[in-house]
Amino acid sequence: MSKTTKQFQTEVQQLLDLVIHSLYSNRDIFLRELISNASDAIDKIRFESHSNENLLEGNSDWKIKLIPDKDAGTLTIRDNGIGMGMAEVEENIGTIARSGTKAFMQALKDKSAGDSPELIGQFGVGFYASFMVADRVVLETRKPGAPEAGCRWESIGDGSYTVEEITKEQRGTEITLHLKEEFKEYLDEWKIRSIVKKYSDYIQYPVVMDITRSETPKGVDGKEIEGAGTIEKTEEQTLNSMKAIWTRPKSEVTEEEYQEFYKHISHDFENPFSTIHFSAEGISEFKALLYLPAKKPFDLFMSDRKKGLQLYVKRVFITDHCEELIPDYLRFVKGVVDSSDLPLNVSREILQEDVQIKRIQKNLVGKVLSTLAESKEKSFNDYVTFWKEFGPVLKEGLHFDYANKEKLQELVLFESTATEAGAYTSLKEYAERMPASQQEIYYITGDNRAALETSPHLEVFKAKGYEVLFMTDPVDEWVVQSLQEYKEKKLKAVDRGDLDLDSEEEKKEKEAKQEEARKEYGDLLSFIKGQLESSLKDVRLSKRLTDSACCLVADEYGMNANMERILKAMNQPVPESKRVLELNPNHPIIRVMADIFKGNQQDSRLNDYAELLYDQALLTEGSPIKDPLRFTRLVSDLMVKAAR
Ligand code: ADP
Repeated sequence: MSKTTKQFQTEVQQLLDLVIHSLYSNRDIFLRELISNASDAIDKIRFESHSNENLLEGNSDWKIKLIPDKDAGTLTIRDNGIGMGMAEVEENIGTIARSGTKAFMQALKDKSAGDSPELIGQFGVGFYASFMVADRVVLETRKPGAPEAGCRWESIGDGSYTVEEITKEQRGTEITLHLKEEFKEYLDEWKIRSIVKKYSDYIQYPVVMDITRSETPKGVDGKEIEGAGTIEKTEEQTLNSMKAIWTRPKSEVTEEEYQEFYKHISHDFENPFSTIHFSAEGISEFKALLYLPAKKPFDLFMSDRKKGLQLYVKRVFITDHCEELIPDYLRFVKGVVDSSDLPLNVSREILQEDVQIKRIQKNLVGKVLSTLAESKEKSFNDYVTFWKEFGPVLKEGLHFDYANKEKLQELVLFESTATEAGAYTSLKEYAERMPASQQEIYYITGDNRAALETSPHLEVFKAKGYEVLFMTDPVDEWVVQSLQEYKEKKLKAVDRGDLDLDSEEEKKEKEAKQEEARKEYGDLLSFIKGQLESSLKDVRLSKRLTDSACCLVADEYGMNANMERILKAMNQPVPESKRVLELNPNHPIIRVMADIFKGNQQDSRLNDYAELLYDQALLTEGSPIKDPLRFTRLVSDLMVKAAR
């Protein structure tokens, strides 16, 4: 194939422009990204060669070589890793395979990316970071196989690139950056040294560079020979310490080293929220270095997101995304696990079944949860910041990780009628605030706090001074189903089933009144029920309303408005479930209707009022009404009549 010119995918060009124009304060990281890629590529060939030694082609002196060339103005990064075939080059460089890219780009544009480099960083700029310092990038690569199957990719970052087949003797990848005039400093030995030390010290393979020093020749006695002039001596030096950070004792790792390593494995630009470094001994021996990020990644809820932790066995890289090491509800955790017990040739299938892996997972989950518990205890405000990012994911654990329910229920936070907007309470604090008369923990589910605050369902709770939790994440509907109770206090939805809030005395007193009301309104209720039979299960007098005329209530285990809304949003079938319309016997409209009803049961206004009551109940809970046109006409008619 001769040289062909192709266009970047639109999103790639957009990403490139963003990288060039917004990451300028972090320019040095281009080298970190390229060294990281080279290190990953060596990890891969090492791993694959466990099962097929031929792939090595006798080239296994692992190293990443940096070659600055002052005359040509280029910096080359060469590795003897896995390399790429033509198809892979096109797939990896020039397109962004990840779904969600469009949405991500939009989010960047909306946020004016210049102000939020961490967003781009989180996306993983990787290879594209080269264009921050170079106006031409040439990549030559070959995977194991014939030298003729090499590939050269070249671009000046203007929206197009060329690819061609080449012969490349050595397997691996070589990236040559033609540095922009103003960035020639990256050819300077000391600059390169300091960047490698800062960002890539822990890389497992030697990052090397040829260093030339001039020295005076020495005689047999070891002393410099006077008048002999100087000679140039070049030797390859390793610039990094290569110490796998997780194998070092905690006391010897600096905060900065932890942070840099986190950025290396996560592509995040920000420091992590928390770092967990520990070794386990006993039945299962392993070292783990885990990080809890500070900001949620844009694809946290996307199904094709890469999950899991890096797995090493005795310092040999096994896989990048070992999903079996961490449960889904902790999918935001990043890090490395290095096991001493697993076999080196461990396969995917083995990982899924392995008891060692299950033990490690259990141990990691315990550590993460105790770290969070400690954070909540010691620095609640910081924990809240974390919770705002990851709370919705962590809550999934209540549904899926029954074994850790006790721990998780102490970690969940909610807003409530007793907190300011944006402030949170734990279940424990809620329970401590409960007045002696209150038997259950009350909650209301819905879309957002502002809408819930005005819900008629809260009226009686406000009157009684009982706190109600606001549950505004879709996942909360499942959370409450799994949680059921906290410390023997049942969780009770304010818009479900019957309410039992009164003391025995109050009950007796109210029962008498209710009896009276039932007598007075019983026939009217039957009439309204008859009118709305197709939409409602029942019509009854309410114990929860003090101000509003009416509201809708689901059965104890029935479908409430929020659940219906969520299922619809998820394109799930919504099972038909009729609800109960509750009327407030103390509201004037109910009295008025009762009067009309007594006067003439055929009065046509009664039909209209019944319908309007139902629509009102729907509107106040944020549900759509069936026939908005008819609703408006009825209201207009009433307005006209009232004005006359
Ligand atoms: P990322 O490293 O986040 O996946 P990059 O844009 O840096 O993103 O790289 C895209 C892909 O290109 C990598 O996942 C890898 O498959 C491939 N790649 C990049 N650099 C190299 C390299 N030096 N050797 C082999 N493959 C590479």
